[in-house]
Amino acid sequence: MPERILVTGGAGFIGSHIVDAFLTAGHEVIVVDNLHTGHRENVNLAARFYELDIRDADGLMRLMLAEKPTAISHQAALADVRGSLREPALYATVNVVGTINILEAARAAGTVRKLLFASTGGAIYGNAEELPATEACPPHPLDPYGSSKLSSEHFIDNYRHNYGLDYCILRYANVYGPRQDPRGEAGVVAIFTGAMLEGRPTVINGDGTQQRDFLYVGDVARANVRAVEQGQGICNLGTGVPTDINTIFRELARLTEYEQPERHGPAKQGEAYAVYLDAGRAGRELDWQATVSLTDGLSRTVDFFAGQQGQ
Ligand code: NAD
Repeated sequence: MPERILVTGGAGFIGSHIVDAFLTAGHEVIVVDNLHTGHRENVNLAARFYELDIRDADGLMRLMLAEKPTAISHQAALADVRGSLREPALYATVNVVGTINILEAARAAGTVRKLLFASTGGAIYGNAEELPATEACPPHPLDPYGSSKLSSEHFIDNYRHNYGLDYCILRYANVYGPRQDPRGEAGVVAIFTGAMLEGRPTVINGDGTQQRDFLYVGDVARANVRAVEQGQGICNLGTGVPTDINTIFRELARLTEYEQPERHGPAKQGEAYAVYLDAGRAGRELDWQATVSLTDGLSRTVDFFAGQQGQ
């Protein structure tokens, strides 16, 4: 059945792909974004766009009462681990209070059947005791960004318990793909690709043997489409495959024909050494698994950035 879906952060990297996927699936889409890191041109023209800050509780309330969404995909957030170490209170305000504002507005509207939430598998498990991490791993965020996401998860669960608001929390692995910000502080694939295509020097933090779970953005968008229809609770979204940063560097260097030597800088303190996710629960709840291979996903990403440069 077609839904009327409010996508917060729909002008951002992941949110804009989710908007596209919802529209393709036949849903109506409303986007809320304050364009802090998002861009107006990312927003599909078939969606209704509101430039609004999720810290504006009254504005959200008015919008929710007017638009009466039947589902919400909450993607808006400050999403950078290092930024959160510099400005922890700001991260708590945008990510936690912003989420509460959305929950309160949804409760007031009374039309929202289900909330999807962009959580993080990369920053919530810390140095996981077992890898690949399952949802049963005790969460242990190492930074305010991860803590803000875990806290938001708890608030979301409060609203199911007290008001019956159904949810699916999706803990994303390291997402990459077209439209990620190559000048941001997070998103190693976009940062390396941007630098390599422009022939700029780029640096691998530490020895580059850190392992992450790289998930193509199209797979994340597809999981959101599934989660509107089915699935409850918390689901990791990942490939389950660990890939080290040196491999990402070399693969992108090959695809971009980058010839500068591999350079290493100091390791970033406090980072988990290895995180990769078991997405078995997403398989069962959402009938979802990652489908885009790393080679294919990286090559689509390079093609996108190369195309942008050519414009
Ligand atoms: P992004 O920065 O591209 O997207 C975030 C969007 O939220 C932007 O469009 C931004 O303008 C908007 N936003 C920020 N503050 C806002 C505010 N106060 N009010 C309204 N809009 C606001 O980042 P992304 O990588 O696309 O992340 C999307 C979501 O996925 C975030 O919740 C992030 O925490 C989560 N996530 C991302 C990754 C990843 O690897 N990129 C991994 C795990 C979880």
